[in-house]
Amino acid sequence: MKIIRSVPEAMSYSNNLKRRRKSIGLVPTMGYLHEGHLSLARRATKENDTAIMSIFVNPAQFGPKEDLKKYPRDFKNDERLARSARISAIFYPSSRSMYPDGYKTYVEVENITKMLCGLSRPGHFRGVTTVVSKLFNIIRPDIAYFGQKDAQQAIVIKRMALDLNMGLKVKVLPIVRERDGLAMSSRNVYLSEKERSDARVLYEALDLARKLLKRGLRDPDKIKKRMTGLIETKKSAEIDYISISSIDDLEELKVVKKRALIALAVRIGKTRLIDNIIIGGYL
Ligand code: AMP
Repeated sequence: MKIIRSVPEAMSYSNNLKRRRKSIGLVPTMGYLHEGHLSLARRATKENDTAIMSIFVNPAQFGPKEDLKKYPRDFKNDERLARSARISAIFYPSSRSMYPDGYKTYVEVENITKMLCGLSRPGHFRGVTTVVSKLFNIIRPDIAYFGQKDAQQAIVIKRMALDLNMGLKVKVLPIVRERDGLAMSSRNVYLSEKERSDARVLYEALDLARKLLKRGLRDPDKIKKRMTGLIETKKSAEIDYISISSIDDLEELKVVKKRALIALAVRIGKTRLIDNIIIGGYL
């Protein structure tokens, strides 16, 4: 497995693959890998001649009061895990090589970046779309792999790839969960033992919504109220948002008919966690 630390080296690595007509799968991550990331990596390996994983904690997508500095990092372990998933190369650039002095260009997707996570994290998606565009330009993958865990991100990136004629396929894979339902996340390491146990409530609330829908409740407000009630039984939990929206444009639904994205962000202590389920469809 190759470790590539500079942009020019990554470009020539990918150019060389292109010349030899090898297909390229790209898995963009911020590292501190877990089974969620590895499920994407394994799929990329399976479906392409070459699978490249990027590991880059992208400063542009963190707000000034967010956890950029303390975001967990463990490159040695990531390297071992990526190798176990048969990744061919890790692209592991420095911030300086991605955003050198004089850097001025950002990619902005309108509207769908302003709701849900966009409300409490202004500028977040602008950072995401910018870095993902750069990764797409550097690596020029045939297929890029993302997780449904970040459903809004996946929707935004699909929109961007389509709007800007990026000419690649964006695949979105299911959420990998711990045994008790908690969605795997690098940020789960921030949780104390008590918080880790309280954090189960995110999935429990989503599961409650699924059950209520199954019983025929179709009113998003009523469903959200029941979810709120459940989450508020945990003292450490503070709801950022609960949303029941269209999986196409993230507009809040007035009534749940066939398809819906039920998404939430909840702070458990100081740690902001997100999770979602999709009813009647997929991304
Ligand atoms: P991150 O390193 O958190 O930026 O995540 C990198 C990619 O892995 C994103 O496309 C995420 O949606 C995806 N991912 C993160 N957690 C999970 C999970 N639990 N299941 C599936 N995919 C995930």
